[in-house]
Amino acid sequence: MPREPFTTDITGQMILLGTGTSVGVPTIGCGCAVCQSDNPRNNRTRCSAVLGLPEGNLLIDTSPDVREQLLRERIGIVHAVVYTHEHADHVFGLDDLRIMQFYLGGPVPLYCEPGVEQRIRNAFDYAFTSEPNLHRGAVPQLAMHRIGTEPFDVLGARLTPIRMKHGRRFDVLGFRFGNVAYCTDTSAIPPESMDLLRGLDVLVLDALRPGGHATHFSLEEAVDIARQLAPRQTYFTHMCHELEHEATNAALPANMALGYDGLRIELT
Ligand SMILES: [Zn+2]
Ligand SMILES: [Zn+2]
Ligand SMILES: [Zn+2]
Repeated sequence: MPREPFTTDITGQMILLGTGTSVGVPTIGCGCAVCQSDNPRNNRTRCSAVLGLPEGNLLIDTSPDVREQLLRERIGIVHAVVYTHEHADHVFGLDDLRIMQFYLGGPVPLYCEPGVEQRIRNAFDYAFTSEPNLHRGAVPQLAMHRIGTEPFDVLGARLTPIRMKHGRRFDVLGFRFGNVAYCTDTSAIPPESMDLLRGLDVLVLDALRPGGHATHFSLEEAVDIARQLAPRQTYFTHMCHELEHEATNAALPANMALGYDGLRIELT
């Protein structure tokens, strides 16, 4: 019999669990004003979000901070995970979902592309061996579901994966659910993908820092993309310590703002 988790109901919402770049903000060993700030909105854990869908909670990526993120938001259960890509800051918290197999009464479904599946099979090889004498909670129980760019149904909702570039040679997925889209870790969005991102109420978009970067949109580039797509509201994510929350927001257009850990967005 599955155990009953202690959890809050987040149905109808997307929560930004983490909005920081791969090293997090504050960054270890950094004495800058943002890293030393008392403003909790300058405190950014690694990038992730969770959606309260009709049939359960869908986690986007398993950041190294996933345990603290779920505890912070009092989200006691994750029913499935969908991955944007296989970088360490988006994958390596996966082992902390071991507790979910007790609540789900079985493996955690993971929806991902082949490259992500391979990274998970390599990094968490102990979850895929049939070693004897292990107790039931010793290793994560995982069920792989391969996805591509075809829309698919999960937990009672339709998700549209959107192909994006993360640097010149690396592909990632963004996701659209109704009129809300989540697009992190990207430096270019192909024209056919731009077409899938029109008519949005809310766009969550990568904006690493001021000035260019090989694998992420700069804040200026992200503002330009948001202007082209013209959603009602844009929130930026995956920020580094060069973007102070209040000062940056004061300079952004009215319908654009930096996201922050714990930001709740209505799913429409
Ligand atoms: Zn990242
Ligand atoms: Zn810093
Ligand atoms: Zn990445």
